[in-house]
Formats: sequence, structure tokens, C-alpha cells
Amino acid sequence: MAIDFAIEPEFQEKLDWIESFVKAEVEPLDLFFRGEVSPFDKSHEVAQGLVRPLQEKVREQGLWACHIGPELGGGGYGQVRLALMNELLGRSSWAPSVFGCQAPDSGNAEVLAHYGTEEQKERYLAPLLRGEISTTYAMTEPQAGSDPGQFTCSAVRDGDEWVINGEKWFASNFVYAEFMIVMLVTNPDVPIYKGSSMMLVPKDAPGLELVRNVHLGSGSSGDDAGHAYLRFNDVRVPADHLLGDEGTGFKIAQTRLGGGRVHHGMRSVGMAQRALDMMCERVLSRETKGSLIADKQSIQHWVADSWVQIQQFRLQVLHTAWLIDKEAGDYAKIRQHVAGVKVATPKVLLDVVYRALHAHGSLGMTNEMPLIGMWMAAPVMGIADGPTEVHKDTIAKTVLKQYRPYEGLFPSQHIPSRMPAARAHVEARIENEIANL
Ligand SMILES: Cc1cc2nc3c(=O)[nH]c(=O)nc-3n(C[C@H](O)[C@H](O)[C@H](O)COP(=O)(O)OP(=O)(O)OC[C@H]3O[C@@H](n4cnc5c(N)ncnc54)[C@H](O)[C@@H]3O)c2cc1C
Repeated sequence: MAIDFAIEPEFQEKLDWIESFVKAEVEPLDLFFRGEVSPFDKSHEVAQGLVRPLQEKVREQGLWACHIGPELGGGGYGQVRLALMNELLGRSSWAPSVFGCQAPDSGNAEVLAHYGTEEQKERYLAPLLRGEISTTYAMTEPQAGSDPGQFTCSAVRDGDEWVINGEKWFASNFVYAEFMIVMLVTNPDVPIYKGSSMMLVPKDAPGLELVRNVHLGSGSSGDDAGHAYLRFNDVRVPADHLLGDEGTGFKIAQTRLGGGRVHHGMRSVGMAQRALDMMCERVLSRETKGSLIADKQSIQHWVADSWVQIQQFRLQVLHTAWLIDKEAGDYAKIRQHVAGVKVATPKVLLDVVYRALHAHGSLGMTNEMPLIGMWMAAPVMGIADGPTEVHKDTIAKTVLKQYRPYEGLFPSQHIPSRMPAARAHVEARIENEIANL
């Protein structure tokens, strides 16, 4: 199947609309609230009063919740077009909320859309897709993140209820959430891949304790909406709060995290491009030692290296988006590609944003430019949804599966070993040609 990233004129018009709308209407929110108010805080009347009319305009354009299929009120444009949209939304921290595709709500909505019963969709998905509530996804535990085999937070069936006990760590946005999707051990006697299940847990469930709220960086701020350390003390949820079948928690997590990882990559293309835009503008605007900073060769190499990296990364993200569409969202078939995007994302941000930051000198490191905040995204992208090393393991395992060991003393491509056969082949052909003269 031919790979085609051509953009139809009608969709280009949508992209142009998004670009000017984000610049004119959404970026002022980034500047005005400056991390003091979270887009996830639906109880903030001033912020939500400003956001709701913008969301309405997005809906009118048919661009609301585009990660979700049209049957549930999403755009249904597919992942390639979503990638192009997300590049533009990645330039602003409020834009994903204005367009109804902010993580972790987007991934939770996808899980509910895929695995939810009609009642679950009605009660939990509908208000989420109307943009009325925020949600949390709780999988990581304090003693284990990258190794789900060490998870212990469990749910035990008691009549028509599940009883949950244990702890979860780094449950983002919990303070603003109405409900959580939680990964729980439901059968400790089999490997976690078969013994875990996903459950819906309302935030006000009795016995759910917020141990503390953890923030990124060195200060305590609302900037990142917070990541909760949670304890479940005999928390009871009705039996029908199980998502999908018992024992399918791991499979559901793969669906959820697969899409989320690529969506982070899409937005990171936009963030890296914005950093390069800032760098180019600055080095063309400032002189040192008699010439523009842009005239220094080291800076020119940085501009070139950044452009090449963004170009490669953008094509990788678009190709993976194209594969998701082609495989109809079957992430198991394209695990290697999703992991590739996950590995590339922090590296591109680390390199490109660092160069932009450095090229701005002292100003780059201050809170008067967005660069230091963007730079923080690099280590976060290397850890959230699984650390880089784990994804490299996935890629290596998949790549190595395509090869077999070679039995000979020397490898199959050893030149002296291949020579006799090649010589015999060529000599036979020469003899043949001469005989035919
Ligand atoms: C901003 C942010 C938001 C998050 N939001 C959520 C959320 O909403 N819900 C949620 O459940 N979790 C969330 N997380 C948690 C995230 O999923 C975990 O931090 C991640 O899976 C890593 O787990 P850990 O922190 O326990 O690190 P560990 O598992 O302790 O790993 C630490 C380090 O060990 C090394 N390492 C680990 N495994 C391997 C390996 N196989 N090979 C080589 N080296 C390895 C790596 O260098 C790794 O960085 C969030 C994290 C961040 C930073």
C-alpha cells in the first residue's frame, strides 16, 4: 500500500483555521494563566467561562475530540490527520483542552469507547466527551513502575462488589478528576499479563485516601496539575465497574498507552518546531563580536541539526500514525513503531529545545521565555508511559526476532567464505558467454 501524506485542500483549510485560532484565542490563555490555573480544573469558573465558548467554536468546525470516532462525537479524521492537528496543538498548553484531546483524558476516553458497556459510556464517557469533567489513570505503584510484574494493588470479588486494597503512585490530575481508570491485580496466581483487570473508580469512593500530591520540579505549583500518591483502604466499587473482561487489564493498558505515546510524539513535533522557530528568530536578531549570532558556524550547524532531527522525527510520527490507521488501531501489530516514537520523543526535545535555550543565552533560562518549561518536557517524555530503556527493549526484541543465528564459524557475509561460490558463479557465466559468441 502506497504511503500518502498528501493533505486534501479541505483539511488544509482546517489546519490553517487551527493555527490562527490557537495563536489568536488559545495562546493568550497560556500567557494569562501562566501555570497558575490548570486546564483540568473544571471548577475554575473564570477559566472555564473563557474556555467553553472556544470549545464551542472547535465543535462548530468539527474538530472536537478528534482522537475518538465520529459515532461518539469525535472528528474521526484518522491518525495521520490527527498528527498534523496535534503538531499545532502541541505549541500551547491549553490547546489540547480546548480541542477535547488532552492526556490523560483522551486515553481514558479511548478505553471507555473500546471496552465500556452502554451504562459505563453513559455515566463516565458522555460527560468526559462533553468536556465537563477531568479524569485520572492509575497504573504505577510506589514500589514499581516499569515492571508491572511487581504490582500488588488488588481487587477481590465480594458478592456484587470489588474490594480494592493497595497503593498507586503518580496518578496525574487526581485532584481535578471525577473518576479514575485503575489497573488492579485480580488474580495473583498467574502472571500479571493475565491476572490484571481495569476498573472504574469514582473519586469520592469511601476508603480512597490521598496520601499526598506530588509536583514536578523543585517548587510546589499548580503548573503540572499534580500527581497523586493514593492509598486504597477497602474501597468498594460495584461489580459492573470492571472494564472489559476480568484478566484483560494488561491488554487494555497496551491499547490505551499505545495511542497516548504516539499522541505525545505528535505534540512534541510541534513543541520542537516552536523551539526552532524561537531560536532562528533570536539568532537573526542579535549581534555579537561584529556579526549576527546566525552567522556563527556553530549556530548554523545547530539550526541545520535541529531541522534535520525534526524532519526525521516528523516523518517517523506520521508513518506510525499511518500504520495505526492501516492496522485499524491494532497496536500489537505495530508495537515496534510506537516504541520507536516513544524513544525518539525525549531525545528530539532534549537536543532541539536545549539548543534553542542556549542560543537565547541568559534569557533562555528565565521564566520570561517558555523554553525552560519546554525543556522539562524532555525528561518527562523519557519516563511517563514507561522509560526509554523499556521501549528500547521492545524494539530490540522485535528486530532480533526477524533474524536467525548463522551456523558457520564465520558470519554469512564473511567475504573470503562467500568468494568460492561467487567465483564459480561468475566463471560459469563467462564460459557460457564465450561459448555463445
Ligand atoms: C509527568 C509524569 C506523569 C505520569 N503520569 C502517570 C499517570 O497518570 N498514571 C500512572 O499510572 N503513572 C504515571 N506516571 C508514572 C510513569 O508511568 C512511571 O514513572 C514510569 O512507568 C517509570 O516507573 P518508575 O517511575 O517507577 O521508574 P522505575 O521503574 O523505578 O525505573 C527507573 C529507571 O530504571 C531504569 N529501568 C527501568 N526498567 C528498565 C529496563 N527494563 N532496562 C533498563 N533500565 C530500566 C530506567 O533508567 C528508569 O528510568 C507518570 C510519570 C511522569 C513523570
